[in-house]
Amino acid sequence: MTEKRSTFPLPLSSVTGSAKGSSGAKGSSTPSYSPAKVATPQTATRNAAHTPAAKPWSLPPAPGRAQSDALARGQAQPLQAPRPDLMVSDAIRRAMVQRVAKQGVQDALVLGALEAVPRHRFIDEALSAQAYIDASLPIGHHQTISQPYIVGRMIEVMRNGGKLQRVLEIGTGCGYQAAVLSCVAQDVYSIERIKPLHELAKSNLRPLRIPNIRLHYGDGMLGLPQAAPFDGIILAAAGIEVPQALLEQLTIGGRLVAPVGVRVQHLQLITRIGKSEWTSETLEDCHFVPLRSGTV
Ligand code: SAH
Repeated sequence: MTEKRSTFPLPLSSVTGSAKGSSGAKGSSTPSYSPAKVATPQTATRNAAHTPAAKPWSLPPAPGRAQSDALARGQAQPLQAPRPDLMVSDAIRRAMVQRVAKQGVQDALVLGALEAVPRHRFIDEALSAQAYIDASLPIGHHQTISQPYIVGRMIEVMRNGGKLQRVLEIGTGCGYQAAVLSCVAQDVYSIERIKPLHELAKSNLRPLRIPNIRLHYGDGMLGLPQAAPFDGIILAAAGIEVPQALLEQLTIGGRLVAPVGVRVQHLQLITRIGKSEWTSETLEDCHFVPLRSGTV
């Protein structure tokens, strides 16, 4: 599962597997990151109203392997087959991204990724009119597609302006965040514990033919030791603490972003600074579905 493939695109059906895990160590607390001033989802609308209009930004090159070649040749394509009936979503999506930028996400690469991914393709058709509002939406099995702002924010914090080789997402859900990640990292691994959602993500992602995503069905609390270490790890579900196995699967210098807490949750950034040393920082409040162990 871990070796690089030389021929692309790969069918997603060829890249599924299961996750088994290991244990790890625990972090200490030394802040090393300055969160953006305007950043909480709950206050995002109010903040947007108080924030001066964001500077216009241009679609940055997204370094997904297949895309980067095209981009180098000036042939950037959104992750979407051209369909005239969907043209309207481009403008609506751009407006969504502008709102996310006004709320404080500044990383142009991340904003470009949000603009490239057709979010409406990851939700039920009955909800497609709401695809580009800044909200989480139901995807079945009591789970949700994350709010675009929080997707952008977490990826921005994880990336910290650096180059991401290999990243891991815990909680694939419908596959939306994995698609966004595929625009900013070389290789994306994503684990889902609910089989029908793992299948849903596969069928959502297949037509987009994204070559650098590998989906796994398994318990993400165990991580993916066979593909570790990761430069970045994102949890899309909240636990009472970050599983130790995941801390162990970060590269030195790697960054993990996770919602932590039960009723009251906050984003936590953990950076691995040595073989047995981590720093931790608490960022803004958030609201996520719970992280659960095992598979169903
Ligand atoms: N990444 C998604 C958000 C999915 S919601 C997006 O693109 O919007 C969170 C997902 O985490 C749910 O599908 C839930 O089933 C999953 N999840 C919760 N605990 C998990 C675990 N231990 N391992 C893998 N997935 C888990």
